[in-house]
Amino acid sequence: MRRRDFLKLLGGAAAAGLLSSTSARALSGDFAPWGFDLSGAHFATPAGDDFFRHCNGAWLDRTEIAPDRQVSSVDTVLIDNAEAQIRAILERGDDSVEPTVRADAAKAHTMYASYMDEARIEALDAKPLAATLQMVRAANTRAAQAALMGSASETLCTSIFSIGVDIDAKAPGKYAVLLSQAGLGLPDRDYYLTAQFADKKAAYLVYIERMLRLIGWQAPQASAAAILRFESAIAEVSWSLTESRDSDKTYNPLGVAELARRAAFAWNDFLRAANLQSASRIVVGEVTAIPKIAALYAKTPIETVKAWQAFRVADAAAPYLSKRFDNAHFEFRKKTLSGETELAARWKRAVRISDGALGEAIGRIYVARHFSPAAKGQVADLVAEIRLALKGRIERVAWMSPETKAKALDKLARLNTKIAYPNKWRDYSGLDIRPDDLVGNALRSMAFEWRRRVNRLNAPVDRDEWDMTPQTVNAYYSPTLNEIVLPAAQLQAPYFDPDADPAVNYGGIGALIGHELTHGFDDDGRKYDALGVLSDWWTEEDVKEFNARAAVLGRQYDAFEPFPGVHVNGELTMGENIADLGGGLIALDAYRHSLAGKAAPVLDGFTGDQRFFLAYGQGYRAKRREDALRQQLVSDPHSPEEYRVNGVVRNIDAWYEAFNVKAGEKLYLPNDARVRIW
Ligand SMILES: [Zn+2]
Repeated sequence: MRRRDFLKLLGGAAAAGLLSSTSARALSGDFAPWGFDLSGAHFATPAGDDFFRHCNGAWLDRTEIAPDRQVSSVDTVLIDNAEAQIRAILERGDDSVEPTVRADAAKAHTMYASYMDEARIEALDAKPLAATLQMVRAANTRAAQAALMGSASETLCTSIFSIGVDIDAKAPGKYAVLLSQAGLGLPDRDYYLTAQFADKKAAYLVYIERMLRLIGWQAPQASAAAILRFESAIAEVSWSLTESRDSDKTYNPLGVAELARRAAFAWNDFLRAANLQSASRIVVGEVTAIPKIAALYAKTPIETVKAWQAFRVADAAAPYLSKRFDNAHFEFRKKTLSGETELAARWKRAVRISDGALGEAIGRIYVARHFSPAAKGQVADLVAEIRLALKGRIERVAWMSPETKAKALDKLARLNTKIAYPNKWRDYSGLDIRPDDLVGNALRSMAFEWRRRVNRLNAPVDRDEWDMTPQTVNAYYSPTLNEIVLPAAQLQAPYFDPDADPAVNYGGIGALIGHELTHGFDDDGRKYDALGVLSDWWTEEDVKEFNARAAVLGRQYDAFEPFPGVHVNGELTMGENIADLGGGLIALDAYRHSLAGKAAPVLDGFTGDQRFFLAYGQGYRAKRREDALRQQLVSDPHSPEEYRVNGVVRNIDAWYEAFNVKAGEKLYLPNDARVRIW
């Protein structure tokens, strides 16, 4: 994935963007006709010392992060633009002659309107929570609590285990029930366990108590302390994010009886509440943590479990409730944890929530309004070129045996590409959305999605499905489907501009496509074969060679230190860093190949290679709040943008030549210290 993961509907803000004829000029800055913002660069900073700043320094110095955002970046401009366009769709509806499109659009419009109806929301105050809280109070047995947890995918409840239905990594023609560790209310286990986040943990305690008071829970102070102790204990036995992203370690199929033997928990009640009572086989993720979490839960007093569940219900529902809830939620979740200073305008939040619930209903209108069909063909051509460049790289690597190489090439040949928008749109006709029932709308949307997932459990895998909407500014690689998916909203300037200099398009969208393709061959993606099966298709020697190279890259990133004593986690970010490096290399190969032996023109004094790298650096220009950056460093497999630029270019020989980088400069690596994987 390029930047973000999909977020759960509740509390989530599905990042969205929208394609149009937006030119680079719509972004702040002074863009040269060839597509680079010269006014944002800081050429006085030597490229070899800090290439990120060389490309973006003036912009970094002058940019103020919007009060309702954690970050200001190229993407946030595209997202702002998109949100305004989605708002127009949601406020005016759709005049399509096609009844299905019209009906689904009307639902999205109603969802939006129900979020905008503040008078109704204030009048209801805590009422929409009453039924759920009553269930929590009444659940006096472990079995009843397990049932509440099993319902978490379609209620406001939370759970110590998260359950899902997704493609089976070892049989990707089928779906499987997946179980993983959960239960934490802070962004990562590090928030409970490390000194760096001690102040956030203290603020969390205050927030828990505040929420308990808002719902009139008994003994809020003592309950809050007990809740924090419970979650801290879960954090201690949970796997780190680094371990959880290992596909081998997290594939542990167990029968329900075997699961119950290992982890004492009311599994039958849990599964029945999730509508998965018929499941006989469960693929367990964090297999050693789950028994420990179950044991912790078993010895936690039921009153503490109830208070914990009640707090988490209020926390999840708060953005849909009256101001006293909404503000408390904002002050902790957005301000304290991420550094935002202002709550986003109500219409923006209404856009995000509607987009999360009815994304494809909005997406099909937005594609019709804003996406040029010609762009789809141009991007397809570019994908073909980048794919050819990766093929060349795989063919040329010296460390890989012919045997594994043949299989890798077969995998690349079979890789599927999805561009701009799905061929088949989701049907929302079974979803009931009402103008005066916001919380009900959110719950019914979650239930609608959950049932869609449960119902397909015994059906063949739907290969037409998209995990992102077309209006999302992002892209992803799916290892089980062996495919890259490039939503329409990502296919716009400054990443992709049919009128810009080719060097800039290769450095922008070309590197992005290369990044997604390389995910098929990163430290985890490489474990999936041409058909998407998690399997051991490499020779032992090739695995050793690959890992040795990756380890060097890991050490390079480990050395980056954004705050004193706080480093980038080279292992957590390994897959993304490998994809970044591969993406940059193959996009440059493709650019040079496109010149067909001719010299690239010099524009504004910049050579073709220089423009390629400048565009690459510009694509990642971003300024993040300190709290948000600290959060990213522990909870996001992507390195911060600064290192996604500096950490990549220093391993590319052509960058040294293009900017005359010499020994002694900060990013300089001697030839034999540069990582060469692909
Ligand atoms: Zn990625």
